[in-house]
Amino acid sequence: MNVIAKRLTNLTLAIEKELHNCGRTPQSVTLVGVSKKQNLADIKNAIEQGLTNIGENYVQEAQGKFPFLPPVTKHFIGHIQTNKAKTIVELFDYIQTIDRPNAALAIAKAARTMNKQLPVLLQVNISPNDRFGCPPCEVLQLAETINAQSHLCLEGIMAIGPLSSDEQEILDAFLLAQEIFKQVGGKTLSLGMSHDWRLALRAGSTMLRIGSALFGERKG
Ligand SMILES: *Cc1c(COP(=O)(O)O)cnc(C)c1O
Repeated sequence: MNVIAKRLTNLTLAIEKELHNCGRTPQSVTLVGVSKKQNLADIKNAIEQGLTNIGENYVQEAQGKFPFLPPVTKHFIGHIQTNKAKTIVELFDYIQTIDRPNAALAIAKAARTMNKQLPVLLQVNISPNDRFGCPPCEVLQLAETINAQSHLCLEGIMAIGPLSSDEQEILDAFLLAQEIFKQVGGKTLSLGMSHDWRLALRAGSTMLRIGSALFGERKG
């Protein structure tokens, strides 16, 4: 087995074990492999080994890679610049980072133009060192804006944990995200990256976004 195949197998088993400890089923979580700044060969390899979802942050980079990948569900997890909305909607199947009304409206307009029905997540800011994300007090209003768009389907929320080595601080932030998720409703709570996915599962995450723990350190 090559190194990517091994990491994917081990990661999948570790996730299943943690889910079991939480009394949850393996089917209750989707793994999104975050492939930004990773080699095309490694990404292809992971997809061939059974990875069904990938996430990318940068529009130009995704544009260069996607034509060469086997079929896979593509998540946009980067900051939305409204002037790139059309390209984002063309390239991606799922958008996780709707964090303000302007982003919702720009993505909705592009989706309408392309007659594409898009599942989206509302990105909420749960951490003082995060530059993006909707402030918790504005989430319900933004959810209403998204729900009013005919071509967007709001499936839940996404958040990035605080950059911290304090597990309690991370868990508290994730529990805040869980609370907001309950208010918004939906089926998807996208929480958890390479260093904090176990805590995310304990807070009810249904979607993990994992990059370096799967693909290794980012290249370049
Ligand atoms: C880069 C990135 C990830 C993956 O980070 P790792 O620490 O490599 O797992 C997950 N989510 C978002 C939003 C990212 O930008």
